[in-house]
Amino acid sequence: MNAEIIAVGSELLLGQIANTNAQYISEQLAEAGVDVYYHTSVGDNPVRLSQAVKVAQGRADLLIFTGGLGPTKDDLTKETIAKALGTGLSMDGEALESIKAYFQKTKRQMTPNNEKQALILEGSASLKNENGMAPGMFLKKDDISYMLLPGPPSEMRPMFSKYGIPAILGTLKRKEIIYSRVLRFFGIGEAQLETDLEELIDTQTNPTIAPLAGDGEVTLRLTAKHESKSVAAELLDGVEEKILNVVGDYFYGYDQDSLVEVGMKLLKDKGLTLSCAESLTGGLFQSEITTLPGASAVLKGGVVCYQDEIKKKVLSVREDTLKQHSAVSEQCALELAGNVRTLFASDIGISFTGVAGPDDLDGKKAGTVWIGLAVKDRPAKAFLLNLAGGRNGNRKRTAKYGWHYLL
Ligand code: ATP
Ligand code: MG
Repeated sequence: MNAEIIAVGSELLLGQIANTNAQYISEQLAEAGVDVYYHTSVGDNPVRLSQAVKVAQGRADLLIFTGGLGPTKDDLTKETIAKALGTGLSMDGEALESIKAYFQKTKRQMTPNNEKQALILEGSASLKNENGMAPGMFLKKDDISYMLLPGPPSEMRPMFSKYGIPAILGTLKRKEIIYSRVLRFFGIGEAQLETDLEELIDTQTNPTIAPLAGDGEVTLRLTAKHESKSVAAELLDGVEEKILNVVGDYFYGYDQDSLVEVGMKLLKDKGLTLSCAESLTGGLFQSEITTLPGASAVLKGGVVCYQDEIKKKVLSVREDTLKQHSAVSEQCALELAGNVRTLFASDIGISFTGVAGPDDLDGKKAGTVWIGLAVKDRPAKAFLLNLAGGRNGNRKRTAKYGWHYLL
């Protein structure tokens, strides 16, 4: 089975909104093992929409539409598709009742065009809308399946994952189910990861291994197919072990995990506290930490020591260090980390100092970064990065590297 997603809405073509519906549906279908071959966007125009339907019928056997199920005149998806399929529309009693109930509850007057929202394609199964009024629908005709979903993501997403995916899988009569697991890596490039795992990726069929890079991180999606969940889990465990034997040093978590979450959990479990001296990152590292509930159990606090004067006054960096090596140096990073740890009486002190860019500074290239790490009872260490992004990219990447070294 292969799918085409057809997003209906002139606002998409005008660039007013991004087609996140296609992205979401594609992601869900990939997980369910259904191939998506095309994304189409078309305006609220019945002629062009009918053309898009015709084209899609010639190259896909599952057509998924989003948008244009509302009560207004420009919402004409189901009318247009009904015409294209030569079928009519019929009232979905249950949907009509829930629309009426909604108006009663909110004490608003229902208009005839609201009633129109409860119309579905004749012979289709209605997909319940638990977050809005227009029901979705699913219909199989002449070996092609059609699914219509509302435009607002808050309505479409839950409807699609709860009712849409099972309806699609039901037509496949497939016994095996797809299980996937995402492994997350940081500190290694996509090309390097793929090279290190080349043989494994090429020879592995169940589970398959698919790399994806973004935001300085690389992920591997492992996808196993099996009738039994426990066997699929064993298949995933087996290949995960093989992967981590090779690139385990860069692995930090699963699925939706983030570096800061994983790092904070580790420090919390070990009962360790942290303080930070942030020059280059200007508080970014701590700002990310404080998005997590319970951060105060780990983070004692920190200093945004942007100017050299503050590095000297507040964090006692030696005049000599700044004169001889400048603020962007191993020596300065070590002093910052060690001294902030002492000042805040924490188990770990971390520091960030560097040239964010775009211009070079004092003979140091933009993207030159030192991260200092002072851990109780251990000699302090500093790590050099040579980043090649823009100013903000470098700052964000640096904060992530902070966690990489901490872990
Ligand atoms: P409504 O009942 O709200 O009119 P509808 O099913 O008729 O719903 P549209 O009118 O096409 O849907 O779109 C409603 C809103 O949903 C849009 O203004 C936009 O915010 C969002 N939306 C529509 N299509 C998409 C899409 N492809 N990706 C992301 N958001 C979308
Ligand atoms: Mg609408």
